[in-house]
Amino acid sequence: MNGDLPKDFEFALCLTHDVDRPYKTFQAPYYALKERDPSHLKPLVTSERPYWQFEEIMALEDELGVRSSFYFLNEKRLLRDKDPRDWIDPKNWKLFAGRYDITSDEIVDVIRMLDDGGWEVGLHGSYESYDDLERLKFEKETLEEILGHQIVGGRQHYLNLKKPESWKYQKKIGLKYDASLGSSEKIGFEYGYGTLRPFNDDFVVFPLTVMEIATMDSSDDLKHAWNRCQDLLYVAKDNNSVMTILWHPRMFNQDEFPGYKDLYRRIIKEALQLGAWVGPCEKWYDMNEPIS
Ligand SMILES: [Zn+2]
Repeated sequence: MNGDLPKDFEFALCLTHDVDRPYKTFQAPYYALKERDPSHLKPLVTSERPYWQFEEIMALEDELGVRSSFYFLNEKRLLRDKDPRDWIDPKNWKLFAGRYDITSDEIVDVIRMLDDGGWEVGLHGSYESYDDLERLKFEKETLEEILGHQIVGGRQHYLNLKKPESWKYQKKIGLKYDASLGSSEKIGFEYGYGTLRPFNDDFVVFPLTVMEIATMDSSDDLKHAWNRCQDLLYVAKDNNSVMTILWHPRMFNQDEFPGYKDLYRRIIKEALQLGAWVGPCEKWYDMNEPIS
């Protein structure tokens, strides 16, 4: 759907981050955040915490004058929530072990710091929750308890989606939007140039235009990735689009994932230059469908 852009902007670029793995290791050393003002942020990344990139991202976005959505995961625990018969499957160790505890002090601190600083905190529905209304409801309520207010939307882990059931569940528990529709392999406007309204009401779907990992393949370099993203920005402008991009926090680690942080910065700068509104999905939603 076109024509639902904020006034006076050529197109919209929604920035999102799925918080899958803030820790590279299974241990989660406690780290007290002393600095709560994003304008005074210093990089707090150390070699022991290469995937802890919250401050880096906040500082970068602050410098560019934009905000984004951070979606937090509340994954089931392998040994606590899963049947012992599931413990031996290696796939389940990847999915259900080594995730983070959303109620731990340092994650709670980060969530509140983001919220205070004007970022959106949303739900990254756990692996099986796309098909489990009760689980999704539990995760939403846990996050809202941490935040002290309601959340507006989010994205399902692994882009898991059962259409239209997952959207029905999300809507039923009070979410206003979903950002799970898309691909981890292809970039582009596969689902049209605007947002979708699967129920012809105020529940909105933001199709995913670009997941960072899909911009480059092994033979590729940053220049090609940039060209591809720049082309999409022009397409977005020509079609008054709502373009949504996903950059996982760990990809901002430039040692392990070179190029992705620069690419993110370039996309935002170019979008602003092309006259885009840039921000979190929630903000876009609220400008078009005022949240009561
Ligand atoms: Zn995820």
